[in-house]
Amino acid sequence: MGIRFSELRSPQIGAAAEAGAVVILPVGQTEEHGPHLPVNTDATIAVRVCEEAARELEGSPPCYVLDPICYGYSQKALSAWPGVFRLPQETVIATLTHILKSLVGMGFRKIVIASTHGHHDGVVRVAARALADECGVGPGVVFPSALAADVLEGQGKAGWGGSCHAGEFETSVMLHLAPELVDMSAAVPDDRLALRFPYSSSQAFVSTWTTQQSVSGAYGDPTVATAELGKLLFEKMATETARFVRYYHGIKQT
Ligand SMILES: [Zn+2]
Repeated sequence: MGIRFSELRSPQIGAAAEAGAVVILPVGQTEEHGPHLPVNTDATIAVRVCEEAARELEGSPPCYVLDPICYGYSQKALSAWPGVFRLPQETVIATLTHILKSLVGMGFRKIVIASTHGHHDGVVRVAARALADECGVGPGVVFPSALAADVLEGQGKAGWGGSCHAGEFETSVMLHLAPELVDMSAAVPDDRLALRFPYSSSQAFVSTWTTQQSVSGAYGDPTVATAELGKLLFEKMATETARFVRYYHGIKQT
């Protein structure tokens, strides 16, 4: 049996729920990613990471990947460039919550949300908390890019602020996953993140989008990106996502 939820037939889905399988929901977005990357960058990375993680788990636990969320919330600043779909955050939360509730209705108790789009950090947490509150099922939430931060730190060339949006990180991963969709001749370094925020994300928050002004639609330095780095980042994201799924599957919920 494959790992794609949408390719299963109804009786197979019932059996998967019965067997306590994990369902993973990749959450991306459709938005401009500078002049050099496709607008499906976030969704492509989310799906490919989740599918690779599911394969790495080799059925222990059994794991199925849903079709991704491809339309969500982006800040208005990105609408300066064509290709951005902007749903209100409340709509995204409601959509996620109803998808999660549907899974619970089918009998699934182990659900993981994997988000690759920074603007969704808050909404995926809210939706997960709402499901836990209303249905007594606590989804796991994982941010694959953050789990590969050490690889970028050790192997990346752009340095501080070079990977905010459509920079070294995403460009490298797309050069590895879908080089035919990347136009490196159009890549330019632009509006590197200037604010060196001295707090962790759990300690304090300021939206950095109020501190930046890109000309190209990229934020960072995509010109130093390589497929080799992208391969390392992708493998780290997949392995760490698989590790999280296995850990989450082992959590006893009341
Ligand atoms: Zn992105």
